[in-house]
Parts: sequence; C-alpha cells; structure tokens
Amino acid sequence: MKTAVYSARRYDQTLLLRANAQSGAGHELVFLQDRLDSGTAQLCSGCEAVAAFVNDDLGAPVLERLAAQGIRFVTTRSTGFNHIDIQAARRLGITVARVADYSPYSVAEFAVGLLLAVNRKIARASMRTREGNFELDGLMGFDLHGKTVGVIGTGKIGALFARIMAGFGCTVLGSDVHRNPDFKALGGRYVEREALFAASDVISLHCPLTEATRYLVNAQTLAATKPGCILVNTSRGALVDTEAAIAALKSGQLRGLAIDVYEQEASLFFQDLSSTIITDDVIQRLVSFPNVIVTGHQAFFTEEAIGQIMQTTIDNLSDFATGASLGERLVA
Ligand code: NAD
Repeated sequence: MKTAVYSARRYDQTLLLRANAQSGAGHELVFLQDRLDSGTAQLCSGCEAVAAFVNDDLGAPVLERLAAQGIRFVTTRSTGFNHIDIQAARRLGITVARVADYSPYSVAEFAVGLLLAVNRKIARASMRTREGNFELDGLMGFDLHGKTVGVIGTGKIGALFARIMAGFGCTVLGSDVHRNPDFKALGGRYVEREALFAASDVISLHCPLTEATRYLVNAQTLAATKPGCILVNTSRGALVDTEAAIAALKSGQLRGLAIDVYEQEASLFFQDLSSTIITDDVIQRLVSFPNVIVTGHQAFFTEEAIGQIMQTTIDNLSDFATGASLGERLVA
C-alpha cells in the first residue's frame, strides 16, 4: 500500500524499510520529515494510507483533507491515540489502527530513571563534574526505600513501574478505573485518587489522556499533595496543568518534577531548536529550575520498543490491505 510516513526521522526510515523488507510486505513508503497538520496534509497526495506519530495533528479538519485525497487508513506509531479525532475518522470512513503493545519496560524503566535523576540530582551532578566542580551542596536526595509511591494508571506500564518501586522497598498505592491483578499481586494497594495524592512521596502518571484525566494534576490537587512530593510524568503532557506545577515548585509543595511529555510539546519535541529562540516561556521557566528534569518524549526509545513499533506498523498496513483482522490494534 502506498503510505505517507509523517514525522519520519532517520531511524523511522531505516527500521520501517527493514520491517517492510523482512516481512515481504512490499508497501511503498513515502517518508516525510514534516509533522502532519493542515499545511502538510496535501503532501500525501497519491497515497492510500498515512503512518503518523504522536505529535501529528489528526483533528477533524486534517482528517477531512486526508479523506478528500483518498486516504482510507491511518496507523499511528504509538499506543496512545489522543491526537486522533476518532469520531471524525468514523464519520469519514477512515480506519484507524495503533500499536497496541510494545515493550512497556521501555517506559517503566525510563520513569524510574527520571525519578532517580531528579531525586538524586544526577544530571546536575554530572554537569558540575564536567566543570571540575565536585561540591555536594545542593545534591542531597532522599532514600526511596520506605517511601510511598502513588501510581495513577496501573495498566501495563504503571504495573511494571510499581513492581520496580516495590523492589526498592517502597509502599505502592494505585489509582485506576480498573483493577489490575498484577498490581495487587506485587503488594500494591488501590485507594481513591485524593488519598493517593495525600499520602504519596512520589506520584507517577501512567494513565491515558482522556477528557476524564486532562489536568488531573492541577492547582487544587497539587494543594492536596503531601508537601515535598516528586511528580513524574511519562504519559501525556496535558495530564498536568504546567502553570500550576510551576507554582507548586516555586512554593516548595513539589520537591521535584520530572517530565518526558509536555502539553505544548507538538511544536517543540523531536527537533533541534538549539539555534533558535524558543518562544514557549513555560518550558523555558521549567528548564530553569534546578529540581526539574525535562526530556523530549523519549521514554519509548529503546531498540526493543522501536523494533516492535515498526514491525506492527507494517503489519497494520498489511492487515488493512488484505482485510485481515486488526484485533486490539483497531481504534476506529
Ligand atoms: P494501559 O492501557 O495498559 O494502561 C493504562 C491504565 O490507565 C489502565 O489500567 C486504565 O484503566 C487506566 N486509566 C484509564 N483511565 C483512567 C483514569 N481516569 N484514572 C486512572 N487510571 C485510568 O496503557 P500503557 O501501555 O500502560 O500506557 C499508559 C500511557 O503511557 C499511555 O496512555 C501513553 O499515554 C503513555 N505512553 C508514553 C510513552 C512515552 O514514550 N513517554 C510511550 C508509551 C505510552
């Protein structure tokens, strides 16, 4: 199937071509570095399918343009699909698929890495030693052993994160709309979200972005957190009201913040802006804090995860083309 691959980086190209060749699928892949939006939608002219990524805009106006150009299938190289207007896709007769499953270890392990880095100030210490500064002042953290860790969203990634935290000797609390037996089996205890906020020394977010979870961390919930809490977000930026988080960092209510995702990341992440003036004052304020770590949506970025994402993307194209069942990869 002739497919426009938007937001294609070098690794997308190499690994998608490899998966395409190895599976013998023979899809014609057109790689576009551009992010998909209303200005770039016409670039897929002549294609039947689009392979998108997390910061591509697949809102109703863009989907309408894609449909008008004959696009019948959209596959996203991610598990999350909050960037796609599913109702509009259904209305326009566009089938939407995703990668239902890829190494959850990639994200869970990265979340632990962020927590350790922000708590023990590892990035800051490394920057100091490069300058010949071996001073310890300002680098003190706390033991994770014996602390309470709250996990919001105890699915595949959240439960793995919880398991690692239990291994550190933490008490693990969970909040979820579904109960995961794996989470309970490792000693995790489900509580109401308010109780989790009040009791946790660390809160890590692992639920999807939906209307129910948008800004679940806000001024009100931050005021009700245990003072000195560390917040980790590897899920989706809009789970956190960033302005409220900045206020909580200023007041000390938050002891640290580690984020791999950011509400306004679409215009920033996955590109080198080091020679430009960044006009987003919120992210600039955030990165100025010594107790904040920001990474550019890289939690999924391991060899294992990327390999699975690319293989599934090719499988999605093949299954749609042959009419085979997409199973739980089918979104709409
Ligand atoms: P999953 O579907 O296995 O788990 C999500 C969990 O969130 C489920 O248990 C679900 O019941 C729960 N949930 C849904 N609504 C909730 C609510 N209102 N309150 C509390 N919990 C709720 O998904 P997963 O594979 O564990 O992925 C979790 C999230 O991680 C994804 O939605 C995605 O946003 C994010 N993610 C980020 C990266 C990255 O690179 N940073 C990569 C992959 C996934």
